[in-house]
Amino acid sequence: MFTRRKFIKKTSLGAAALPLIGSFPLSEAALFPQNNTTLRVAIMGLGSYANRVAKAMESCTRAKVVGVVSGTPSKIKDWQSRYGIPDKNCYNYENYTDMRNNPDIDAVYIITPNALHCEQTIGVAGAGKHVICEKPMAINAAEGQRMVSACARAGVQLLIGYRMHFEPKTLEAIALRTSGQLGRPLFFQGLSGFRIGNPNQWRLNKALAGGGAMMDIGIYSINGARYMIGEDPIWVTAQETKNDPVKFKEGVDETIQFQMGFPGGAVASCLSTYSMNNLDRFYLNGTEGHVEMQPSTGYGPIDGRSHLGPLKAPIVTHQTIQMDAMAGILLDGDQPTVAVNGEEGLKDMIIIDAIFEAVATGKKVDIALN
Ligand code: NAD
Repeated sequence: MFTRRKFIKKTSLGAAALPLIGSFPLSEAALFPQNNTTLRVAIMGLGSYANRVAKAMESCTRAKVVGVVSGTPSKIKDWQSRYGIPDKNCYNYENYTDMRNNPDIDAVYIITPNALHCEQTIGVAGAGKHVICEKPMAINAAEGQRMVSACARAGVQLLIGYRMHFEPKTLEAIALRTSGQLGRPLFFQGLSGFRIGNPNQWRLNKALAGGGAMMDIGIYSINGARYMIGEDPIWVTAQETKNDPVKFKEGVDETIQFQMGFPGGAVASCLSTYSMNNLDRFYLNGTEGHVEMQPSTGYGPIDGRSHLGPLKAPIVTHQTIQMDAMAGILLDGDQPTVAVNGEEGLKDMIIIDAIFEAVATGKKVDIALN
């Protein structure tokens, strides 16, 4: 999408260079009728996480919920009254591509079960809207690649809901590494897990979830290893443990322990599980120091310390700062410290594919991400 700031950057002349239509110079407002200071978001899938995101967005300064996509009319009514959403911004799963004719929506935030993300992203991109898609972006790398290609073709941006990329203590920990205070990173440990309840939920249905704990929670350790070490892995090994094959059926992983090797010599040792609580810890050790966070990816507050003392960055509502930052990315072309685009999500999908292959074959699997 052609934003005001990009346009002005492109012309380098600002308002003086605004194009002439007929003999009248068009005003900036006429050229950019959408409100470029606020990202106007429609949320697709009005479940548990969508409710959390929308509540957090009430405190955003640059992003606002203006529309919904849902298959449940009663939920639509409820959201309309909560967020003052007009009828014209309400869609269902059959007609949401009509959004292409709605100039009052800039982006769609897809918060549905994992296996639906790919086709829905392609549909939203085809309607000319930016896509924010929840993690995991898809259920395998082939789908992720289709999503990246579809958005590129449509000229819209694709962002993945990696809220930790904006979380202040996480950024403080990353800054310890980039400033050299940890020395050369050599070891990362990521523990990501919780005990999952209801056996009938979509998270335990391979067709909708694409797997089990790895897609849902293990992905935090994969992504975290990458932003904490600051490199992409070049190999993985992995082993699966399944203690409850009734609850965790074929293709739904209960616990996977996995290792990743990085080009600079670091190794990561990680655990992904749906069978243990209180597993939410990142630990990075370098030649000159270390940093740990526990909790490291829960909704907060994130807590952490390094060899220099406690992490001091403020406690925030993750989704509030995520959505304000995403407004900056989509409207102004801001560059986040850690990427949140489709390519970033695709790397995690390639790694997950490799982990599943390593589990199935018992072999070390090489990965080429760069
Ligand atoms: P949920 O079950 O609470 O909500 C899913 C929504 O999708 C429901 O409103 C449901 O009605 C709708 N839906 C549409 N089509 C459906 C279908 N065919 N089958 C089932 N549901 C359908 O799930 P959730 O916890 O909100 O998770 C949604 C997505 O958000 C997942 O991809 C998940 O990984 C992600 N998520 C991310 C975070 C985060 O911190 N970034 C946290 C939780 C969930």
